[in-house]
Amino acid sequence: MKVVLATRNAKKLVELRRVLVESELGIDVLGLDEVTDYPEPAETERSFEGNALIKARACAEVTGLPSLADDSGLEVDLLNGMPGVRSARWAGPDASDAANLNLLIAQLAGAPEADREARFVCAMALVLPSGVEHVVRGEMPGRLVEVPRGGNGFGYDPIFVASGQTLTNAQLPPSAKDAISHRGKAVRLMVARLAEER
Ligand code: IMP
Repeated sequence: MKVVLATRNAKKLVELRRVLVESELGIDVLGLDEVTDYPEPAETERSFEGNALIKARACAEVTGLPSLADDSGLEVDLLNGMPGVRSARWAGPDASDAANLNLLIAQLAGAPEADREARFVCAMALVLPSGVEHVVRGEMPGRLVEVPRGGNGFGYDPIFVASGQTLTNAQLPPSAKDAISHRGKAVRLMVARLAEER
């Protein structure tokens, strides 16, 4: 079975591919650079699930292949669940990971330890050429530290410490992040659905 991973985020693609390959389902994982080029659809939904479906449907329509897309982000309690679906664009439409991270650090400056709870969320959608759709969700609860630490991962990883951990996501080895991450959990749930579809 061939599955297209509908993401242009190179670091997300690496994480998704790593967990899918580890699943040993024998899935041939294609990136968007290996299929017909198409304009990326706007993420206009308010939910992670809705945006993941927009991306997977657009890819399935163009490629005619089973298409997998994720929409993910960070929900911060002190910010009423923001940046949420706007995580990639928190500091502006084309903001870099560093700009988004620095804005969040500034917004949380001085916040007491007890108010620093947050969670990463990942919704993953699989759209098959037959029109069958599957959507799953993975979450990783934790808290945000004031000073960034570590060079692994991406996005907000340098200030996120998952529940039960002392290291930030960016200090964890990639396999340790996969084992507890929102994306790892969502991919493993989706692998179970893929196994039924094969
Ligand atoms: P998406 O491409 O619309 O799903 O945006 C996801 C954004 O959420 C990323 O650009 C990051 O800012 C943030 N994000 C999602 N997952 C992670 C993660 O595993 N680590 C750090 N940041 C993440």
